[in-house]
Amino acid sequence: MLDFAEPKDNQRETLFVEVILPLAIAKNYTYRIPYDLNDQVAIGKRVVVQFGKSKLYTAIIASIGNQAPDKYEAKYIIDILDDRPVVNDRQLSFWKWLADYYLCNVGEVMNAALPAALKLASETRIILNKGFEYDKSALNDKEFLIIDALDMQPELTVSDVAKLLGQKTVMPILKLLFEKNIIHISEEVSDRYKPRKRTFITLNPVYQDPEQMKELFAILERKAPKQADAVLAFIHLSRQQKLISKPELAEASGANAAAIKALIDKEVFIADERTVSRLLDTEDELDENFTLSDKQTAALTSIKEQFAHKDVVLLHGVTSSGKTQVYIRLIEQMLANGRQVLYLLPEIALTTHITDRLRHYFGNSIGVYHSRFNDNERVEVWQKVLNGEYRIVLGARSSVFLPFQDLGLIIVDEEHESSYKQYDPAPRYNARDASIFLGNLHKAKVLLGSATPSFESYYNAQTDKYGLAELHERFGGVKLPEIEVVSIALETKQKTMQSHFSSVLMRDIGLALGKKEQVILFQNRRGYAPVIICKTCAYTPKCINCDVTLTYHKSSGKVHCHYCGYREDSPTICPACGSAHLEHKGFGTEKVEDELSILLPDARIARMDLDTTRSKMAFQNILNDIEEKKIDILVGTQMVAKGLDFPDITVIGIISADSLLKYPDYRANERGFQLLAQVSGRAGRRGKQGKVVIQTYDPGHRVIRQVIANDYLDLYQTEMAERKGFKYPPFYRIIQLDIKHKDPERLYHQAEYLAVELRKHFADRVIGPEFPLINRIRNYYIKSIMLKFEKDTISIAKVKVILQDVLLQFQTTKLSKGCIVQPDVDPY
Ligand SMILES: [Zn+2]
Ligand SMILES: [Zn+2]
Repeated sequence: MLDFAEPKDNQRETLFVEVILPLAIAKNYTYRIPYDLNDQVAIGKRVVVQFGKSKLYTAIIASIGNQAPDKYEAKYIIDILDDRPVVNDRQLSFWKWLADYYLCNVGEVMNAALPAALKLASETRIILNKGFEYDKSALNDKEFLIIDALDMQPELTVSDVAKLLGQKTVMPILKLLFEKNIIHISEEVSDRYKPRKRTFITLNPVYQDPEQMKELFAILERKAPKQADAVLAFIHLSRQQKLISKPELAEASGANAAAIKALIDKEVFIADERTVSRLLDTEDELDENFTLSDKQTAALTSIKEQFAHKDVVLLHGVTSSGKTQVYIRLIEQMLANGRQVLYLLPEIALTTHITDRLRHYFGNSIGVYHSRFNDNERVEVWQKVLNGEYRIVLGARSSVFLPFQDLGLIIVDEEHESSYKQYDPAPRYNARDASIFLGNLHKAKVLLGSATPSFESYYNAQTDKYGLAELHERFGGVKLPEIEVVSIALETKQKTMQSHFSSVLMRDIGLALGKKEQVILFQNRRGYAPVIICKTCAYTPKCINCDVTLTYHKSSGKVHCHYCGYREDSPTICPACGSAHLEHKGFGTEKVEDELSILLPDARIARMDLDTTRSKMAFQNILNDIEEKKIDILVGTQMVAKGLDFPDITVIGIISADSLLKYPDYRANERGFQLLAQVSGRAGRRGKQGKVVIQTYDPGHRVIRQVIANDYLDLYQTEMAERKGFKYPPFYRIIQLDIKHKDPERLYHQAEYLAVELRKHFADRVIGPEFPLINRIRNYYIKSIMLKFEKDTISIAKVKVILQDVLLQFQTTKLSKGCIVQPDVDPY
């Protein structure tokens, strides 16, 4: 029988979709849907499209309509990759907001938001997941061909695979191989975060019976005295602490590992391998049945009350005040309400302690997301948030991009941290500020936490825009460390300095080491000596790509550029005048480590900075060594200020506070205070008073006095008066434009021209163009224009529309060819 039925409406309807491509293009692009795919079209699904001459990209459907574009003929989309959307409506609104706010393209936001495996393009490189076991017989011919090829060569691009199979798009096949975990995206970062495991010992419950214990002990004493010692040591230790690790027990009992092993074999001891935190102290505090102190309870109550009528609350709590427990109570409540929680932390804090603790506490409903994860792991987290399996995400700044359905609470811990701000590439967003908008989209509450809040947040709390809760007592009554300021000038005069170390610091280091305690020394520069200078002609080696002097690194014997990575052999004679009198000026962590090892030959000294933590697992290894007390003194850059919490660190030395405070930036004092307060907070834990030694040429410096007095409020008030006078945030909003060009003449000319154009609209709110601190990086010359807008009276949204327009005009003028303009909104 013939079928006269009309085809279904949606089968003959012509559909067009606007898609977001992961590229820096100003507009979404429109494609046509082939009829047979009409049924599958939905916003938020991924499609494969051709863009440009021949390249294929994965794009996201942003809208669906019937209108063909009028300026160009729409190409057909090639395929739809998903059965259900991988990006939801709220995310699309979030992307749009980020692009508008931070003056970039939605495609750039998409690029930052999606893990690489979710946005395959022709040039994406794939590799085999080595060591992964799978059933080869279950593969189809095409899959087999791909894997076979990857066996022969280390990596293939997506377009290589297309050629191999002789078909246009292979993304659906690759997508399946990814999902089966057989292939990976080829990445340079291979540093995988591994949770730290340790064996803990508990006593077989049988021996809680005193009779049984007595009997056991009698036998051991006769037959195996070393095992008897181990049991005694265990009982002794268990009175002081809840968790006893195997190495601790071995150390306490003086017993060899064999005795402990024998007791485990006899089932007297039970060994239990667990993931542990870096922070054993707080782990005790995070007992599942922990109770909040009165102060914590008061803070929690205050937060909840303020959430009733405010969306954002700032929790100002000193270091070690037990903010985490307050967070946990809030998280529990939010989960009980059936909603999701995002807990943001600076990257470095994530890799250290808190992850394992919360996982222990919240089990499988918690996902962790940070840059040390490889792409497959990131995709896995993405999927589990999407399908609701993860209800809490603990993550670094990029976790604001995860596909949450219903966020109830966002916590931004250490909200003042500059690492929440992404500088390069666009979007140059601040995850703290973005999460306030994200909270808005989800009707979620946002809690910002810090011991030293950013002035922006504190100002918002003072002006009642945010709520404010306070926690000014260290948890468990731990005292704040004693701070002693040492005048380098005075000690130099008295000839009591030993290289860079004052007599006070040397004495305190000696005292700590005598008590088998640990020391952290902080120096804000890495490398050996920042400047090599010829004593005869003042020549100093400079980078060939950037306008910076090269830093001497003793370990490599080379001079390095810290901006572009360029390095060359360190000169032994002056290349300019031939003189052999080259002098090293200034000093970095490498030199501090070096000189200290001469002064204290018996101390075990290690260094933590970008150079020593680059290799795989190095960061973790240093942490392990501190915890296991294989290190007496750790020398480091600001890495040591963040997230390092070890109970035996009692002395902190700031080798030179001046470099922190005399930085030409309006935030220098705020940052100096934050850093000094954070570093100091590392000293002294349970039962031990810490000591901080600050070395400086300017012992009377106001910020140092404020750090000693722990007087954040005084700092805030003095600085805010200056900010107001000099038109800085939080009273003014800043948008910085970096203009770059390889030709300096062209750059200078065009930067002037742009400033003139901007002044037509914004008058004296335009400052510059000026030379930035470093005016050439990677062979691009740079000029900066700063725009300052009154916060209360000017609509920043309107400003941005005008600004976008001026920039577009600028980019289209002929002379601007080759000019790059990078807007940075709320720069840090
Ligand atoms: Zn010279
Ligand atoms: Zn360079």
